[in-house]
Amino acid sequence: MKPILIVEDEAPIRELIRLVLAPLSRPLADAADGLAASRLLDQNTYDLVLLDVMLPGIDGFTLMPQLVDSGTPVIFLTAKGDVSDRVRGLRMGADDYIVKPFEPAELLARVEGVLRRTGRGSHILRAFDVEIEPVSRTVTQNGRPVQLAPREFDLLVFLVRNRGIALHRDVIYERVWGGESETDTRVLDLNIQRLRKKLGWGGRIRTVYRIGYMLQGAP
Ligand code: CA
Repeated sequence: MKPILIVEDEAPIRELIRLVLAPLSRPLADAADGLAASRLLDQNTYDLVLLDVMLPGIDGFTLMPQLVDSGTPVIFLTAKGDVSDRVRGLRMGADDYIVKPFEPAELLARVEGVLRRTGRGSHILRAFDVEIEPVSRTVTQNGRPVQLAPREFDLLVFLVRNRGIALHRDVIYERVWGGESETDTRVLDLNIQRLRKKLGWGGRIRTVYRIGYMLQGAP
């Protein structure tokens, strides 16, 4: 498995991307400008490059031919409203694009999508001592299978994909229960309790006062 290269000049966005991609358990590398990225691309090979368009020095578009030549999949990061940038990026051979500011779960889904389509996918998500195989819907903890009900499984995947983010109850309902309005709001709390118990994650799935729940971020 080769690293994913993050090319982005804004340090907070680089850090956010690292946090979002943590469940993939893949090695990550980053570059803060186009020249540094170009040097890394000369010396190493990557499974995927997340490429910001607006970079100091050499911009994202100028780096594209080097990436296309090496056959490395690319996801462009573009600013909101820059439709012409997206079209240009895709025409130059990018596999996908994402608009900043992005939703963490969307970024992760797009990265997984490109890795899968280009045959670089490993479908396993990891958090602490747990491994999740979303396709076969199996969960193991320290190598031992864990039996989860379907909603418990969906809830776990949603928490892991949004690790370190305080999730509002309504958002969790919408994404895990498919927007069905629940008359009994304890359904979520009961499922959280079961997950905590089955995984021994009492301290890791945290209650966020007046918001909802959060899975503790990467250490
Ligand atoms: Ca930028």
